[in-house]
Amino acid sequence: MKSYHIITFGCQMNEHDSERMAGILEAKGLVPAAHAEDAEMVILNTCSIREKAEQKFYSELGRLSHLKGRDGRGITIAVAGCIAQQEGKRLLSRTPSVDLVVGPSDIARLSDMVTARRERTKPVVETGGDPEYHQKVVPAVRTDGLKAWVSIMYGCDNFCAYCVVPYLRGRERSRPPRDIVAEVRSLAEQGYREVTLLGQNVNSYGKGSADPTTFPELLGLLQDIDGIHRIRFVTSHPRDLSDELVHAIGDLPKVCEAVHLPVQSGSDRVLAAMNRNYTAAEYRDKVRKLRVIAPGVAITTDIIAGFPGETDDDAEQTLQLLRDVEYDNIFAFKYSKRPGTKALDIPGHLSDQVKEDRLAQILRLQRDITLRKNIQLVGSLQEVLVEGASKKGGTLTGRTRGNKAVNFAGAGDLRGLLVTVRIQSAGQNSLTGELCE
Ligand code: SAM
Ligand code: SF4
Repeated sequence: MKSYHIITFGCQMNEHDSERMAGILEAKGLVPAAHAEDAEMVILNTCSIREKAEQKFYSELGRLSHLKGRDGRGITIAVAGCIAQQEGKRLLSRTPSVDLVVGPSDIARLSDMVTARRERTKPVVETGGDPEYHQKVVPAVRTDGLKAWVSIMYGCDNFCAYCVVPYLRGRERSRPPRDIVAEVRSLAEQGYREVTLLGQNVNSYGKGSADPTTFPELLGLLQDIDGIHRIRFVTSHPRDLSDELVHAIGDLPKVCEAVHLPVQSGSDRVLAAMNRNYTAAEYRDKVRKLRVIAPGVAITTDIIAGFPGETDDDAEQTLQLLRDVEYDNIFAFKYSKRPGTKALDIPGHLSDQVKEDRLAQILRLQRDITLRKNIQLVGSLQEVLVEGASKKGGTLTGRTRGNKAVNFAGAGDLRGLLVTVRIQSAGQNSLTGELCE
């Protein structure tokens, strides 16, 4: 095997896991191929958070299996990510074209697995979970050059009733702060200017570790790294959004005032059934505090429409929460049944039509709110990290601290610089402005 191609499904965490698998393969001498058709090894890095994500994977696997049989080149097909963990060996019996199965916490074993595959013809499966994974320094191939993802922890201890993550990504484990600082320092030296710290619940970073560094303290350490202009993070569990973290967002100049704070529902009854451990009132309080201490903070969220047992009244409470909080943007999903989760046993599963209707209502309401929030920025001065030329000729593009895309007239090589832009107009998905310096 000399060339590889990775197809990634799902969240930023998976995108970054793919960068790491690329790092391991390139350290082994493999080179990237632009298309699956040209590669000797294809990795499908999968997601199983909702049924739809699983279906996408199986249809792609079918296409590749066909390719494998047809041209007789004997491409190696590897399955990584959450479906690899969920299905393990079963994938081999279900789809004989699969050669390797590697779980999310076993990525560091990929190099040995490729060697084993070269030496034997048997399929290789590693889903046991490497207990030392969080202590390992895994190389990553990043291509952006400006913005980088950095994992700070793995797994999740929360067991929300609808979610497969704790079963597939294991218990919460934090990387040592010295490894994270070294990685971000090296990124700065390579010219990266923005890092996004990744974890299922970054607010509980450090819990159970020998090192007592908390998440706000980690932000303080990263703030001191020269060359890095901006620090972002996802995701924050509302229960664990501490006053210290709110102050870190307000006080540390490089930490962007942008918080993704998934609420899931506006009904206390549904939140309790979901095992979220906060009430809608407590959530509203946290939002209020954030807006006082970090003025202008952009807040985004996740919503699940049609959780089992959700009544019309519960659904209305979610809509009311959206009206009250006025999020900058949201990600909303229909509830999806996931194997092994507690929500399967909750009575009152809703029809697809009800879930669909409730989702549509949520999205319709939020569309107006997002546009209104964007229009509120017209006339303001925004700090923008320039990403380069926009698709429209003669204009540059970048993002505000609140993570909104801005297009503005300008030429020259400003990529990587922080500039001030006066916002002149606003659309649903982006802002337009003029350069002030
Ligand atoms: N750890 C993060 C958190 O606590 O919000 C995000 C985890 S998950 C990858 C991203 C989002 O997917 C969740 O916030 C939730 O809204 C959604 N999600 C998870 N399981 C789901 C399910 N069974 N059906 C629909 N949406 C789901
Ligand atoms: Fe899933 Fe809840 Fe953990 Fe997020 S906090 S990954 S929704 S179990």
